Amino acid sequence: MSHSSNSFNHCPGARGLTFRESLLWERSREGRLALSVPEQDVPESNLDPSLVGDAPDLPELSEVDVVRHYTRLSTWNYGVDTGMYPLGSCTMKYNPKVNEQAAALPGFADLHPMMPESCVQGALKLMYELERDLLEITGMHAVSLQPSAGAQGELAGMLMIHAYHSSKGKQRHKIIMPGTAHGTNPASAALCGYKPVPVELSSDGIVTPDAIRALMDEDTAGIMITNPNTLGIFETHIAEISKIIHERGGLVYGDGANMNALMGYADIEKMGIDVMHLNVHKTFSTPHGGGGPGAGPVVVRDILEPFLPVPRIKKEGDRYRLESNAPLSIGRLHAFLGNFSILVRALSFIRTTGKNLKDVTEQAVLNANYVKANLKGVYNLPFPQPSMHECIFNDAIQQKNGVTTLDIAKRLIDLGYHPPTVYFPLVVDGALMIEPTESESKDELDGFIAAMKAIAEEAKNSPETVKAAPENTTIQRPDEVQAARRLILRG
Ligand SMILES: *Cc1c(COP(=O)(O)O)cnc(C)c1O
Repeated sequence: MSHSSNSFNHCPGARGLTFRESLLWERSREGRLALSVPEQDVPESNLDPSLVGDAPDLPELSEVDVVRHYTRLSTWNYGVDTGMYPLGSCTMKYNPKVNEQAAALPGFADLHPMMPESCVQGALKLMYELERDLLEITGMHAVSLQPSAGAQGELAGMLMIHAYHSSKGKQRHKIIMPGTAHGTNPASAALCGYKPVPVELSSDGIVTPDAIRALMDEDTAGIMITNPNTLGIFETHIAEISKIIHERGGLVYGDGANMNALMGYADIEKMGIDVMHLNVHKTFSTPHGGGGPGAGPVVVRDILEPFLPVPRIKKEGDRYRLESNAPLSIGRLHAFLGNFSILVRALSFIRTTGKNLKDVTEQAVLNANYVKANLKGVYNLPFPQPSMHECIFNDAIQQKNGVTTLDIAKRLIDLGYHPPTVYFPLVVDGALMIEPTESESKDELDGFIAAMKAIAEEAKNSPETVKAAPENTTIQRPDEVQAARRLILRG
């Protein structure tokens, strides 16, 4: 069922309400205009053609042509406001509209970055209060809101670890990096000159104290550990692992992007973590598809406070000011105050959720385990124990009929669901990584589970249907490499 076999190919609307969209250049008709300009009331003079050059190749269209074209294209989009978005590792949850309203308040949205401190007391107070909330949520000692993404928070943390070792008079060269770390972790460590050292996982997918004891030495700066890890499993030995690292002078970086699984339950400082970033655009809900925008605050234990980025926000009486005098600081990471409007959304989410942050964690973990339990046996579970906020299947059962993770993901689109994360984490072959988040109701999860079961049935009985998916979309299966490398942007 592709468009090319459709005899109404030329006709918009031929596929019900999924419009086939031609390029604007194909719709162009000579002389068609989208606006009329006032009659000329000055003498005409010809411009020197050598100054103007060739006229640009622009399509000639009416206003209604243009409005319909772009409005139709916008309906091809899919987001958390359209339906479930079960990407693992990304916490793509519903973003409450009250946060958007708060961020759009003119006093926040129109704030000029060059305003003097005395005129932005409210903004500084908001940031100071968000800092206090993040410290309460994590149990840590000090915080910087500057990093503008999780990955930049990691970089900040690793720069602080690097500065800490330098301050001790001897730099180290390696860092322990489990395969269950997020992909950005080794990159952040490498940017600081540290060589990532892989570590063997136990059969249940976690890091063991024995494995760490065997690797940790005086040339190792510490460990970067994602907890819950990218298998969605809690690192139960984290406190003991931290102790081993600390005994040999190392530090522990905790990737806290998965705070959605921990809030209200876990004390980060008690885990022995020295520095951690939070992805506020994930856990505290900012719309962040396509790589941004975000904020990745870093929280630290007291020993790392002197190295935090500047400026820091200080409270004196009921006034707030920015302090940049910190000789050991790793410096500035972002112009002005960071991605301020994301911070407004984060505080709004925390304050409107209030004491129910604990319920967020509970619901997120329950939802992931509900999906896991219901699809057990239908899809292979490489790690069958209960998960935290996300669960991982793979295509081992369906592969017997030649159906792969990619085919399953594409078929989900036909059934009205955004595919989950696929082929990540790399430690699981053909991974399908599902994070429903707390936003989805039981009805929604039941629909998703039914779709996944229907695909598993199809994979048994008519694998060719799954392999040909998606059939209900405007574009079926582009060559993914060519589509990314050879963009055709004009007619
Ligand atoms: C998303 C994520 C990151 C990276 O965060 P960005 O804001 O995308 O840079 C790091 N670690 C984990 C575990 C994540 O899920």
